[in-house]
Amino acid sequence: MPEVSATKTLSEPHKGTTTDAAVDLRSDTVTKPTPEMRRAMAEAEVGDDVYGEDPTVNKLQAGAAEIFGREAALFVPTGSMGNLIAIKVWTHHGNEVICEERGHINQYELASMSAIAGCMPRTTSALDGILTWDLIEPLIRPKVYYRAQTALISLENTHNMAGGTVYPPEVAEDICEHAHAAWLPVHLDGARIFNASVALGRSVAALTRKFDSVMFCLSKGLGAPVGSMLVGSREFIEKAHVYRKLFGGGMRQVGVLAAAGLIGLEKSPQILHRDHENARYLAEGLAAIPGIAVDPRKVQTNIVIFDLRGTGRTAAEFCAELAKRKVLAGPTDKYCIRMVTHYDVDRAGIDRALTALREIA
Ligand SMILES: *Cc1c(COP(=O)(O)O)cnc(C)c1O
Repeated sequence: MPEVSATKTLSEPHKGTTTDAAVDLRSDTVTKPTPEMRRAMAEAEVGDDVYGEDPTVNKLQAGAAEIFGREAALFVPTGSMGNLIAIKVWTHHGNEVICEERGHINQYELASMSAIAGCMPRTTSALDGILTWDLIEPLIRPKVYYRAQTALISLENTHNMAGGTVYPPEVAEDICEHAHAAWLPVHLDGARIFNASVALGRSVAALTRKFDSVMFCLSKGLGAPVGSMLVGSREFIEKAHVYRKLFGGGMRQVGVLAAAGLIGLEKSPQILHRDHENARYLAEGLAAIPGIAVDPRKVQTNIVIFDLRGTGRTAAEFCAELAKRKVLAGPTDKYCIRMVTHYDVDRAGIDRALTALREIA
């Protein structure tokens, strides 16, 4: 789902101090900066980043490049801008980009790849959102002058709308290897790649090493208030830098944001497993509610999407009932709801959500 509020009703104080705060499971984007992040933001050393002079941004970029084992990284205001920049770097107007049908770049980025980069998405749907080379290969256009040319393949890990599913590393690597043999670059929408890393017990560097470019979000499970990163080769990041400015993403004393990002990057991966445990616990509770369908074994990370057709209610009605009980979630279609766990919701919060779900069902 788009990372925007469908029920723009609540702007709750930081959870944990008040018992009547909402349990906000709409997205992991709703996390508030921790006290440590706020301190770091207040004290951040800053400079003009358009001049390359913000030491905190430079530190964040160097840190991200190191963690991913790449030459360089770039701080971008949003994940959507990061994906669009990568598409711009790898394509020309009139090209096609292969991606999964439910992918964020296809569904929730306002057709920017067409509107701005001049590309057509070429989609197919895959079980659990996980593409394979067998699914991709037939989509590649033949190299004849009267056909639009395939310029890029983009994968999403974890796959948001497929319920936070994780690419088996060998499947992603196989796609990259075949793509490279066909002279095609592969971009990773790794908004939640740290969740995949925790689920698999493999480093983000290992999981992403074959990709030509990677975008990941600081603003989701890592808990920073704003920002995403692009990582890749020095040459890729130099080009990305130009497009960031072209798209209006050149920022000035943005070290105040990078400071929070640095803490998210350093500290949050170690605690993401809690979100995964809470999501699994939530899914198990949901599976026991009559009329709700979900397979807890498929919940690998922090996203739970469940079907409530059997309750006879629509997702919108159900979410409205949940909101009255101060539990927030968003519909993904007429009969499905998505819930996302994150560090501002603890086990007690999940129990409150389950109690509300049982009452309504
Ligand atoms: C959130 C998200 C993005 C980027 O979102 P922004 O709100 O633009 O930061 C990209 N891809 C996926 C899969 C996402 O979940």
